[in-house]
Amino acid sequence: MSSISIALPDGSKREIASGSTIADLAASIGAGLAKAAIAGKLDGELVDLSTELKDDARVEIITEKSPEALTVIRHSAAHLMAQAVKELFPQAKVTIGPAIENGFYYDFDMDAPFTPEDLERIEARMAELAAANQKIERRVLSSSEAVSLFSGMGENYKVELINDLAAETVSVYSQGDFADLCRGPHLPSTSRIKAFKLLSIAGAYWRGDEKNRMLQRIYGTAFADKKELEAYLHRLEESKRRDHRRLGRELDLFSFSDEVGAGLVIWHPKGAMLRTILEDFERREHLKRGYDIVLGPQILKKELWQRSGHYENYRENMYFTEVDEQSYGIKPMNCLAHMMIYKSHLRSYRDLPLRYFELGTVHRHERAGVLHGLLRVRGFTQDDAHILCAPEQLDGEIKGVLKFVSDVMAIFGFEYEMELSTRPEKSIGDDAAWELATEALLSALKDTGRPYEINEGDGAFYGPKIDIKLKDALDRRWQCATIQCDFTLPERFDLQYVAADGEKKRPVMVHRVVLGAIERFIGVLIEHYAGNFPLWLSPVQAMLVTVTDNHIPYAQGVLEQLREAGIRVQGDFRNEKLSFKIREAQLQKVPYMLVIGDKEMESATVTPRFRDGKNLAAMKPEDFVAFVVEETKNFR
Ligand SMILES: [Zn+2]
Ligand SMILES: [Zn+2]
Repeated sequence: MSSISIALPDGSKREIASGSTIADLAASIGAGLAKAAIAGKLDGELVDLSTELKDDARVEIITEKSPEALTVIRHSAAHLMAQAVKELFPQAKVTIGPAIENGFYYDFDMDAPFTPEDLERIEARMAELAAANQKIERRVLSSSEAVSLFSGMGENYKVELINDLAAETVSVYSQGDFADLCRGPHLPSTSRIKAFKLLSIAGAYWRGDEKNRMLQRIYGTAFADKKELEAYLHRLEESKRRDHRRLGRELDLFSFSDEVGAGLVIWHPKGAMLRTILEDFERREHLKRGYDIVLGPQILKKELWQRSGHYENYRENMYFTEVDEQSYGIKPMNCLAHMMIYKSHLRSYRDLPLRYFELGTVHRHERAGVLHGLLRVRGFTQDDAHILCAPEQLDGEIKGVLKFVSDVMAIFGFEYEMELSTRPEKSIGDDAAWELATEALLSALKDTGRPYEINEGDGAFYGPKIDIKLKDALDRRWQCATIQCDFTLPERFDLQYVAADGEKKRPVMVHRVVLGAIERFIGVLIEHYAGNFPLWLSPVQAMLVTVTDNHIPYAQGVLEQLREAGIRVQGDFRNEKLSFKIREAQLQKVPYMLVIGDKEMESATVTPRFRDGKNLAAMKPEDFVAFVVEETKNFR
């Protein structure tokens, strides 16, 4: 038998007999590898372990640790599920069942939908089939053989798929009595599917077309081992528990309404208060850092959007309105009014930098399909600023913004990641300007001492940028701050300043946001804190709870005293059991409950009880005020 030469990922070569399988190759390398192997990669393509090697090739052995492993495991779990369904529901017809990002699904044609009890039975049968250690085998059949195989089984969807493929041959994978049309690859046997869970049931049209028959989809997930599966299920539970749409409803923060329009947030009193706290915080932090607060109009003439290039490049995402035969664009960005402020005076180098800050409400038309609670909306408010400076000031300005981001993220307890996107192939602005701006961004990044990544050629055509993604409590990434240098708008709007030598020069414009859209940031905060906002952010900081009606007059006095002192306080003076009222305040995640009973009334005190049940000592109302003021000042 002739021998062939196989190149391995470590650069070494191995001679083996032609016709050996990838499993044989793994065994020739080591018994441990042979045991861990689940698939192979032949010249870059994922294949079964049973694939025969006939020529010289590059081969990688895929084990459970390989990044590609999950797809193979999940796809095999989808087949296992289909096998179990066919045994339990012989009338079900199989259609397609791919691996997806966090798991897999399979669509079945069934008259009645599956029930949660069905899922339990299917999962139990899957476990038995896995334990039976059935071999998963691949066969290549001619299309006509495959058609007669599947039509013999009554699987008309598979027949349709084979006919659509119009290939000479197709591959079929079998385990036990079950066979499926499939490209593969798969695990070598069912016992290698060790950790799986069926998650949910949904309806789905055949081929995603609503004119077709409605199928029954079962979603599941699978991992290499039980520990990883458990960790994933825990994260899934946590993200459900923290879902800002659910908490937004339960805590009565905001709502959406079809009557109003999709993607448009309606802020209820507590949500509007939360927003106000954040906005006040933003104004203070910007003023501290030398920004000026400005405000532009909500609609601006169409001609101005033509001049800025938005009309040409961004019109599909904009809303327009026409009054007195004049078309106006509802602003999707805040830049234009800020430039008009700049242009309202002749500017000298001594005026620069100018930092215009606006809590700017913008509207952008997003496709209905991408809208998602507060995280993706059509109307939102950005903490937007435009810095206009001389090119040589860019370095200091960018450093200032990154310091700003770092200060703010520390307050909310967020870690974050930074990325620099550099000049793309198609761009405007001269080489010197690009170099200067890119250098400024890079040197500011280095200055932070934090890691960052560079996306070569990924910048906008009008300038380089830094994107910052924060990491929340579930280790998910969210885009928040961006810092974008811009050479085109100062050009288009002919912005100038008189330099020290009397020459007229162009300022650079930096667009930047720190939290990004307030809506989105609040959505992230809700999930990050699971609704348990720290005292300084809580829309209601304290709830006064009376024990009996006798305590109402004293409680009323305390309520007014606290409110007067700026504490966000409410009273629950209903004639209900104390434990019931405390439970309700806890469900509303109010940080402090102040119980008012005989003891408090006699000693003119309040007894604060934290939402987790911990009691503080009884104290005078003014001492509680001092406590809240101190905590708030320190962003606790
Ligand atoms: Zn398959
Ligand atoms: Zn801008």
